[in-house]
Order: sequence, then structure tokens, then C-alpha cells
Amino acid sequence: MALVEDGRLVVHNVGAPSFRQTMRRVTGRTLRVPTMAERLASCGGQIAYSNVSPGAAYFLDPDHFGTVLHRAGSFGAGGVPLTGDDHLDVTHDLAGDVEMTARFCTRIVPSIDFSLAVLWLANPDLTLHHEALGSPEHLHALEVTDGLVSKVVETVKAHEDRFDTLLMIGSDHGHETIGRSVHIGNWLAGHGLADEVREGRVGVASQGTSALVYATDGARAAVEALLPAMCQEPWAGAILTGDALAATGLSGDTILAAVDTARHDETNDHGIPGTRWLVEDGEGAPEIGCGHHGGMGPGETRPFLAFVHPSFGHGEIGRRTSLVDIAPTILAFLGLSSDGMDGVPIEPRREPPRVS
Ligand SMILES: [Zn+2]
Repeated sequence: MALVEDGRLVVHNVGAPSFRQTMRRVTGRTLRVPTMAERLASCGGQIAYSNVSPGAAYFLDPDHFGTVLHRAGSFGAGGVPLTGDDHLDVTHDLAGDVEMTARFCTRIVPSIDFSLAVLWLANPDLTLHHEALGSPEHLHALEVTDGLVSKVVETVKAHEDRFDTLLMIGSDHGHETIGRSVHIGNWLAGHGLADEVREGRVGVASQGTSALVYATDGARAAVEALLPAMCQEPWAGAILTGDALAATGLSGDTILAAVDTARHDETNDHGIPGTRWLVEDGEGAPEIGCGHHGGMGPGETRPFLAFVHPSFGHGEIGRRTSLVDIAPTILAFLGLSSDGMDGVPIEPRREPPRVS
């Protein structure tokens, strides 16, 4: 994402361990709304085990209301560093996910110390960023991850006489195959905005298969004038501005447009249909043929969500839900208010599950 620093747009990788300090330095705060960790600080507390990017892990609880364990540094409430055996010193790969899950099942599931515990595996996302969808490596990562989920389910069940636990299993996105790549900042520079890009009046933040285009007030009109030409490019799928952009939940004074890249009807070597353009971020060579996400494609916007609790029964709920419904569902289960949240609790009893 881009932040305005000394009047210039500076694009940051939010996955970096330092991003939370950067955001606080530049904007005077981190998130605009309270996290689950803050809401639960006085009623049970939250602990998170994460093996994803450090930035993503720390933004579960950027202001240290609860506990976050991550290989880049683990912190207790108040930001107290956790060291030695209390730190989560695992590798950023499948083996690290296996070790983290074992530790979560041994130490956290049986513990009475938390009302919310999060286990955030790196896989299969991590493997898919470097391998083809449907490849043996992809299927192996899925199989191992599936086994880790089973282990958590069994451990929770083994303690069901002690705790009433709502177990939620989900993904925050899927993946699409990358067939080609584009550097949108270079495209803007090549279309007359070289000075604006170089001097930070225009910025492009890659989201993988989409990009956010930022502009300061003085450069806004020049970028808007280029959008019709951008729409004609083979890599431009949809360009969202105004109300359509706001409807995605993206807002801010300097966000001008979101570009969802085009999808082509091509099938990869493993029979997985569809390829997309990757928006290059300048940080590394694009991995053509591998997976990525961040746009509005059919694969990447079809995550799954499963509940394990007697009240949910068995079957499928044929109702549209959103990622933002997850937190209110947890709060409702804990008997707490979800005031101020965009989502609503998912209540399966409202309609009988369709048994599949
Ligand atoms: Zn990813």
C-alpha cells in the first residue's frame, strides 16, 4: 500500500516485519478499528500462531493487546518480547507448519488461558506461489495441510468435555495461474507520467493479480485522463473507480483506481483452467506458471469456510457470506457484541442446512 510521506506517495510491502512501525510513524496509528485482540483483551484474550509473512501476522494484533507468535519475533500483551521456548522458532515452509501445529495442539488447545486462538498456516498458499496449480508439489502441500487440520479437529474433540469450542476452518483466498506480467508504474511513465511516478505524485501498489493506483491531488486528473487508454490494454480486466471501488471496501484520499488484471482461457499442464496477468512489484522476478492472488478472479475469490460445532450440524449452507462475517460470528459465539463491524454473525440455524 502507498502512504503519503513528506507529500510523496511511498509504496510499502505490508508483509515486512517493520511495516507496523512504519504505519504508526507515518499515520500516527495502525488500524482504524479495534482488532479482535483488543475486543477480547478483557474477556479471555487472543493468541495467534502464524507462519505467514511477518507483516500479516503482526497486523492480527498490531498494538499488542494479546499474544502473537511468529518466527520473526514473538510478543506478549504490551509488546513484551517472548524468547527461548516461548518464541515460535519454526521454518517458513511445510515443516514449519507441521511443527507449529504440533505445538498449538499441545500447548494452546488444552489451555484455559485464551478465548480466541488463531493458527495461521503458510500452506498451501506458500507452495502455490512457487509451483503450478495442480502440480504434485501443490497436491502434496494440500495433503499435508489437510492432515494438520485433522490434527487440530481431533485435538479439539479430545477436550470437548472441558471446553465448548467453535472451530472455524477457512482460507482467505484461493489462487490463479500467472501467465504473463505487467509493470503498471512503467506503463504510466511511458504514457507521459514519468515525472509524476518518479517524484511520488503517482504510485502503484501491486496486489498480485490486481493493483491499486494512487495519486496526489495535483496528479489525479492526469491519471484519470489515462484510464480509458489503460482499459484498452490486454492486461486490464476491470478498472474500478468511485462507487465501484468503495464497494470493495477500499477507501482513502489518494486511492484513485483498482485494476483487476485480465483472465485468459488457457489451461495449464495439470488441467487447471484460466491464466492471469501479474502486476509486477519490482521486488522480484515474476514467477510465470505459478499461482498468485489479489484480484477478483473466480479461483482466488472462492475461499472455503467450515464450522465444527454441534450447533452447526452437518451439511452445506447455501447462503452468501463474507470474510467480514467471521469476526462477528466469533463474538456472537462468545456472547459479545459486534457493534461497529461491517459483517454479521453467521447463524446456521436460521435456515436448515442442505445435506450434501
Ligand atoms: Zn499468498
